[in-house]
Formats: sequence, C-alpha cells, structure tokens
Amino acid sequence: MLRSELLKSCPYASHWVDSVIRTAYSIVESWRKRYLKGRAKKAKPKIKRRFARCKITLMKIDYSAKTIRITLKPWEYLTVSWKGLWFDRRVRGWAVGEVVIKDDRVIIPFKNSKVVKVKRVVGWDSNELSLDGYEPSIGFIHVDLRPLQSIKIVYEKKAIAQSKGKRELYEKYEARERNRVRGFINKLSAGLVRLLPNSIHVFEALDKENLTSKERVRRDRRKRNARTPWRRIHKRVSEVALTGSASPEYTSRECPRCRFRVETQVGHMFECPRCGLKMSRQNVAAVNIRRRYLKGKHRMWGFPRGLGP
Ligand SMILES: [Zn+2]
Repeated sequence: MLRSELLKSCPYASHWVDSVIRTAYSIVESWRKRYLKGRAKKAKPKIKRRFARCKITLMKIDYSAKTIRITLKPWEYLTVSWKGLWFDRRVRGWAVGEVVIKDDRVIIPFKNSKVVKVKRVVGWDSNELSLDGYEPSIGFIHVDLRPLQSIKIVYEKKAIAQSKGKRELYEKYEARERNRVRGFINKLSAGLVRLLPNSIHVFEALDKENLTSKERVRRDRRKRNARTPWRRIHKRVSEVALTGSASPEYTSRECPRCRFRVETQVGHMFECPRCGLKMSRQNVAAVNIRRRYLKGKHRMWGFPRGLGP
C-alpha cells in the first residue's frame, strides 16, 4: 500500500520508492533497537541530511570504463566515474556496492572479499599507557602507548595558544596533533596486523557498559573516551583486521586460573586469595577478555572450533 501510495507522486524510477521504503525501515529498526536498549530517545528519528541509496537494479556498472550509470527516471541517467581518482588503484578488482547519492556528492562503496584462515585469537586490554594482549602460543604482548601521551603533552602548547586567543595558531597545533595521533594509531594497527597475521583481535566492548545508567555517567564516559585513544585504536584495527568484542565486566578482577572474583581492585598487581596466582592486572584482563570471547555467542559467526582457550 505504501509503495503504491508513494508511486503516485514519484517522478523517479519505481525502484527508488522501494529503496526509500527499505531505508526508512532500516532507520526505524535500528532506532527501535537502540531505544529498547535505552540508548535512543523516544522521539522518532529524523533525517538531518538527505540521501538516497541506489538499488543495484538501478545501476549499470562498467568495470572497464570505471563508470556507473544510475537510472533517475526512465531514460534519464546520472553517470559517475572513478577513473583516475585517487582511490582508483586501491579498488582495482573490487566490486561496487550500493551507491549513495547526497545533495553535494555521490558515495561509491567498494567491496572486496578475502578468505582469512584464523589461527589466533588475541585478547587485548587497553588503558592510557598501554595495550596488553594475550595469545597462548605467543604469551603476553605489551604495546607501549606512552608516545601517544607525549604527543598530547607537547601540544598542550595549543591550549596556551587558545587561551591567548591566537585562533590560527591554535588550529595549526590542533591539526598537527590530530595528524600525529592518527599516524601513530595507523602505524600501530598496521604493525599488529603484520606481526599477528590471521588473528582475531578481541577488545572490551566499551559501548555496552552502563546501558541503564543515568545521563551524567554517560557524559563522564564520553569525556573519558575522548581523552583516551582506545576507542580509536579499536576502530582502526577493525578496519584492517578481524575483531571481536567481549563484555568488560570484572575483566581485571577475576582470577584467570580459578575464576575467583575479588571484590576490590587495588594496585597494579592481581593476587588471587584462593589459588595464589600473581599477575599484572592488564594481563589478567587480556586473558579474561580472550576467554570470554571464545566462550561467548560470537562463535556463531563461523568461529573455527578446536581453538579453545
Ligand atoms: Zn585463582
């Protein structure tokens, strides 16, 4: 019914109506999920910037000419090309996905599939100073994140520039800091992939903590996440390697050997009152994150069995 109703006043090819309906459904569906989890307000979602997702049936892709012809209306087309653009070489041999048309630009998603044989699952715990990983055949892995902190400290100059009202100088410093942080994170992620090929990297699911907590807690967390680089490291690693996540609860308070859960968390070392295990808290967390992932529901998406903890 909705379809025929919309078709009455639609000058465009009918596939666009299907696309609009499908997009609207998926927006409402994801809002509904977030609302049920307490992460979205009750007000219905609104689209701030218009976009149209182009169904594959509306696209004629010429891979040798590197052009996409999109049907707007019967016998009226829009042709976009990626020939000679900066990403041309990077997407060679890749398949074009559903193009998104915005007011000022066209977004062409490219897909590439490759088979990855997973040989390792690495659990990672992260804090301001380090990334700590665990994988049984390697042992513990320690990545020093202090250089990242010193980038920040050096660019406290920028705060001084800001307080003195030197806007241009401030922006220059800020851009430099951003670039250096990004460069560090990119190199770090590339290094992890190079040194640990065929791996799934498991991080704490930071999004999922405190689902029902109040707004104030959420704001504090946002502040903390803005200060710390973990989130960006997780994100970058997920762009270049397979990643998974595990619930962050008690990860540094549970004994990896006997599962005893200590009540308080004091100091850098974990000491199990039941079995006497002594281990750094970050290492404890890395082991627990990995184990939690392996026994969790994530196995569903094609996790090779036999790779027990
Ligand atoms: Zn123990």
